[in-house]
Amino acid sequence: MVGIVIVSHSPKLAEGVRELAQQMSQTPVPMAIAAGTGDPRHPIGTNPEAILHAIRTVWSPDGVVVLMDLGSAILSAESALDFLSEEERARVRLVAAPLVEGTLAAVATASTGAPLHRVVEEARQALLAKQTHLGEHAPTPTPDPLATPTADEVRLVVRNQAGLHARPAARLVATVASFDADVQVRNITRQKGPVSAKSINQLALLDVRQGDEIGIRATGADAQAALAAVRDLVERAFDEPTTPPRAAPTTEEAPVTSESGSVLRGIPVSPGIAIGPVVHFQRAPLPPTPPPVPADAPDMEWARLQQAIAATRTDLDELEAQTALHADIEETSIFEAHKLFLDDPALLERARHLIFNEQRTAEYAWHRAVREVSAQYATLETPYLQARRADVEDVGAQVLAHLTNRSLHTDIPAGSILVAADLLPSDVARLSSEQVQGVCLALGGATAHAAILIRSLGIPAVAGVGASILDIPEGTHLALDGERGMVWIDPDPETRHALETRRTAWLAAEAEARRAAQRQGATRDGVRIEVAANVRRLADAESALRFGAEGVGLLRTELLFMGRREAPTEEEQIEAYRAIAEALQGRPIIIRTLDVGGDKPLPFVPIPREANPFLGQRGIRFSLAHPDIFKTQVRAIVRVAATHPVHLMFPMVSTPDELRQALALLDEARHEAQAAGHAVGTPKVGIMVETPSAVWMADHLAALVDFFSIGTNDLTQYLFAADRTNPQVAPLADPFHPAVLRAIAHTSNAAHQQRVWVGVCGELAGDPLGAVLLVGLGIRELSMNPTAIPRVKHILGRISLAEAEDLAAHALTLEDGRAVRRWLIEQIGDT
Ligand code: PEP
Ligand code: MG
Repeated sequence: MVGIVIVSHSPKLAEGVRELAQQMSQTPVPMAIAAGTGDPRHPIGTNPEAILHAIRTVWSPDGVVVLMDLGSAILSAESALDFLSEEERARVRLVAAPLVEGTLAAVATASTGAPLHRVVEEARQALLAKQTHLGEHAPTPTPDPLATPTADEVRLVVRNQAGLHARPAARLVATVASFDADVQVRNITRQKGPVSAKSINQLALLDVRQGDEIGIRATGADAQAALAAVRDLVERAFDEPTTPPRAAPTTEEAPVTSESGSVLRGIPVSPGIAIGPVVHFQRAPLPPTPPPVPADAPDMEWARLQQAIAATRTDLDELEAQTALHADIEETSIFEAHKLFLDDPALLERARHLIFNEQRTAEYAWHRAVREVSAQYATLETPYLQARRADVEDVGAQVLAHLTNRSLHTDIPAGSILVAADLLPSDVARLSSEQVQGVCLALGGATAHAAILIRSLGIPAVAGVGASILDIPEGTHLALDGERGMVWIDPDPETRHALETRRTAWLAAEAEARRAAQRQGATRDGVRIEVAANVRRLADAESALRFGAEGVGLLRTELLFMGRREAPTEEEQIEAYRAIAEALQGRPIIIRTLDVGGDKPLPFVPIPREANPFLGQRGIRFSLAHPDIFKTQVRAIVRVAATHPVHLMFPMVSTPDELRQALALLDEARHEAQAAGHAVGTPKVGIMVETPSAVWMADHLAALVDFFSIGTNDLTQYLFAADRTNPQVAPLADPFHPAVLRAIAHTSNAAHQQRVWVGVCGELAGDPLGAVLLVGLGIRELSMNPTAIPRVKHILGRISLAEAEDLAAHALTLEDGRAVRRWLIEQIGDT
């Protein structure tokens, strides 16, 4: 398979592109990043050595495609080629495609096993789709042999929200690639095509949107099978959501005006009832562009801009940490995305040009760059992309506030209902539920970042009620129902009383859920079940405590090693692990050693490409092959264990011999740390049981360790031989299946016979029904995504141990996962 290298001035940008591209393909495509200079003082830039390393990492005789952002990236890539042999150079192509679109097209095409020239061709044409959509490119009209429906044409309606956008187009290309057939697709609704279904760009040129009808025809040996597979894919809406986004009602559509006693309908954003006086939100908007006065010292202007950007980055870091206290972990990624804008070459290069080439002030240059990028977003049709405009302006305004020493916000009195046209994520991150009882927005929708954050703060909110709300006098009483999307302006006493009663009930239910989650996990008859969290970093651990975590059952350490040019040092790791252990305030933490390799290569360790990465050198196999990296990590862990309740766990163990080798290295590492004069602890040592061989050798393995933690995610994939990242086989890989439950039962029995405690840290533990089954199978520690903790504790409290054991015993006798779930729901009812 052709390998892909992403070259960018910004590591964050490159990482973002890689993440997007990964979503494009069912089959993992070898991808490597060469981004940034590696110099923390001047991080933005490119480096030929890193590019060379990236090319070697993804090297394949099929070839390598290199995509670059701009300027010096191209020069650096050319220099990197000078270090390759002539033969190697002949298999590497530098492609002048736009970085994001080009990479997506290249990856989607490479994943089908296409040859080098096809991957290059698709990457080069990657901008066509966007140009067509925006009317900048009129594709040469193709003769349309399919214009008249023929008997063998399959006609289907595309139901997914964004139409045949990049991800579904990539699915279609991948599906068609597995058949010996020539498949042609046309857009009947917009009279475009036909085009080959093997080209992601050609498909995008069809401009297929939600509700469009498409026609598909196939010829060749597998034509019928290919048509059936495509039909199935389209009918499944490419496995994407199909609900049409609820549009915000326009002012004209608002059912009534904002007079006293009237009711407005909007979009439900965050559940709950709020009643209070209106406060209109004031924020200094992105001001008009300052006058283009000439600046005498470009260097100084550039330095001022850099400082303002750095200060904004610090603010965003703080907001991220603060939000992590309230929000689901994924929600803090909003701030990561905002930090990406601060590094965005489009903004920076434009501002730099204005400062140095046109002698403008930092304020003017930044303002213009932000306005230009934001105007580009405004032209896009998808509401999602338009919402990103608000994000650019938000970040832009924050940098400007630092440049001009202005504050962005005014104070809001406690108990208010905040009314605004719309809110930016950073506005919301500065709100608190003590200050603001409810939020009512004239514009906006349920999927905007600000809406996600409002939900995470638990503040009732309604959006899209129309502009008339902005005319209500400050202080007017407003009530809102965030679940139904209704707003009452100055409600009459009867309505107000009814709403106040509902608010009281809602507050009581919320308080009860929080209180219950802080209690220790236990069954109804008092059998103690430790309910812990799976975390990746400090912010996750802090947030986990708020959800009621009693410790960390799985610290995935991979994040610390990703996106770096070299492995983190022992001291860096100590600092990271200690910070998390301290945040847990004496609660236990299980640190899992590095689980990389295979599909998750480390940029600083060349791993030969593997045909089946999930069956390759991952987890403990990788660690044993790289003892230096492994021992550095283990030394850091035993040193933190000197002062904190830290346990150590090895992933992907499949034989006692492997475990013995890991234990021997642990011993060596402990002695090395001691010899260097450091205090070390003796952490309890355990393994993840996540391979079938570990299940069947559980008795031997148990004799060597203190605990087991069953990884049901991998265990399920290996039991069913069903790749956990492949949606085509997802229905097979069901952790509720008795095949998995029997493996867990066997492991649990073997562990108990050796007096080794056993937990579960796969996804099954965070499913309320799964948690009941696991307790019934003898598991006494469950570790999960923090947000799952309240529901799991709640259901455990409803069930006795004997009931859980009976349910599990019967589940073991059933035929498949569906039957197990059905049986549990019948017996337990609603979770
Ligand atoms: C598992 O495999 O169940 C597990 C918890 O590990 P990971 O998901 O990190 O592979
Ligand atoms: Mg695993």
